[in-house]
Amino acid sequence: MTLENQTCVVTGASRGIGRGIAEEFGRRGANVVVNYRSSEARAHEVVDTIEDAGGKAVPLQADVSDFDQVEAMAEDTREVFGSADVLVNNAGITIDKKFENMTKEDWETVMQVNLGGVYNTTNAYFEDIKDAEEGRLINISSVVGQQGNYGQANYAATKSALFGFTRTLALELASTGSTANCVAPGFVETDMLEEVPERVQQKIIDRIPLNRFATVDDIAGIVRFVASPESSYMTGQILAVNGGMEW
Ligand code: NAP
Repeated sequence: MTLENQTCVVTGASRGIGRGIAEEFGRRGANVVVNYRSSEARAHEVVDTIEDAGGKAVPLQADVSDFDQVEAMAEDTREVFGSADVLVNNAGITIDKKFENMTKEDWETVMQVNLGGVYNTTNAYFEDIKDAEEGRLINISSVVGQQGNYGQANYAATKSALFGFTRTLALELASTGSTANCVAPGFVETDMLEEVPERVQQKIIDRIPLNRFATVDDIAGIVRFVASPESSYMTGQILAVNGGMEW
């Protein structure tokens, strides 16, 4: 499953799942754009890891919720590696509260990053993906977008929205041979999960048939498959990678 000479953009690649995807793409020969918002040192570490393994990568700072910053990142991408073949919309945040305690600001901040960010990046790279030989748009959703989750009304709304968005872009891209798919991880060992209290974490594990949280590599391997030529005939799909949780 080579990604040789493919330009792959991963948003939110300084940590967690995005980092795992970026490093996996690097191992497969891609030219990787490691986007980050504020973790500059960690983004540089990811680039160093990819380069040490013989790959090519560049760190590009942009807050995905800022239209102009994302446009500038897309321009920089084209200057460094040429036009993009693969875009992974991975950057995401949570602000968890019961709905009755959720402020308008809590709602809007999560919308602006998780959904507004997906608009901004997809818009900035859309022509590239469309014109690529077999472009790939990959949106990272969540089992929470499928099941809902106590205290995550804002987050769940953004993650469910990606299903309709992905399906629509799959239809609009189909005549070009490029695809759009969603990967919906279950609960993954990252900083985001660290924010969940331990007693709640145990309750979650009790609901997972495989009886463990996912590692970043569990998700990165699936995303690499979706990015690869082997997935050419799959579009508009939701790949649930959640240890067997029902939805
Ligand atoms: P994480 O460890 O908290 O890392 C988040 C990443 O997103 C960081 O690289 C961060 O950059 C970046 N980011 C956040 N806001 C950004 C913005 N406005 N612009 C650009 N980058 C931004 O999160 P994660 O657990 O890896 O989650 C990654 C994705 O997977 C998210 O979309 C999340 O919803 C989804 N997901 C996670 C889980 C889970 O259990 N962890 C489960 C299902 C789905 P900085 O380091 O610069 O802040």
